[in-house]
Amino acid sequence: MKNIVLFGPPGAGKGTQADVLKEKYQLVHISTGDVFRFNIRNATELGTLAKSYMDKGHLVPDEVTINMLNAEVEKNPDANGFIFDGFPRTKAQAKALAQLMDEKKSQINAMVALEVDDEVLVERLLERGKSSGRPDDANEEVIRERIAEYYRKTDILKEFYQAQDKYFGVDGVGSIDEITERLSNVIDTL
Ligand code: ADP
Repeated sequence: MKNIVLFGPPGAGKGTQADVLKEKYQLVHISTGDVFRFNIRNATELGTLAKSYMDKGHLVPDEVTINMLNAEVEKNPDANGFIFDGFPRTKAQAKALAQLMDEKKSQINAMVALEVDDEVLVERLLERGKSSGRPDDANEEVIRERIAEYYRKTDILKEFYQAQDKYFGVDGVGSIDEITERLSNVIDTL
């Protein structure tokens, strides 16, 4: 089983690459952002709660996010492995994920990070906001708050995975195919 954390700040291209990589490596893709948006569209209790944080550019509380992620993993008992996209975003989430993998007699094999400059991220997200319909992409202030939240709570996860020799940084600027190739070069060694 190969389990990969696809990492990077908002707008780094995680979703785009996860779509390609899940086919290429036959992995189940779990995007916490997508699961939250699905719940918002369906007006579930979880969706209403998540929306109050997402609209401000803040992270949804750990307990809620961890429970949701566990449930998504449990829905796929026969998976060959997972690509986690948007999770973990805090140290508590990273620890919960390690425990979950442990219970499955498995582990996270690597965190593969897309590295992109902040100003490029803002530009990309504003551009995406023109068509994505995502309220958190439509407003520059919210975009900057998401990036700030990333540096406050998420960026430190590099060190968490580096300490286990599982961190791989990849240049996230280039064509989609070029970036897939860079990511594949890492994944193929796992
Ligand atoms: P992005 O394009 O910013 O990477 P996502 O689509 O992954 O965004 O997530 C959108 C929003 O959903 C985040 O800004 C956050 O509010 C919430 N969210 C997603 N994943 C998590 C998580 N692991 N922990 C807490 N909140 C999350």
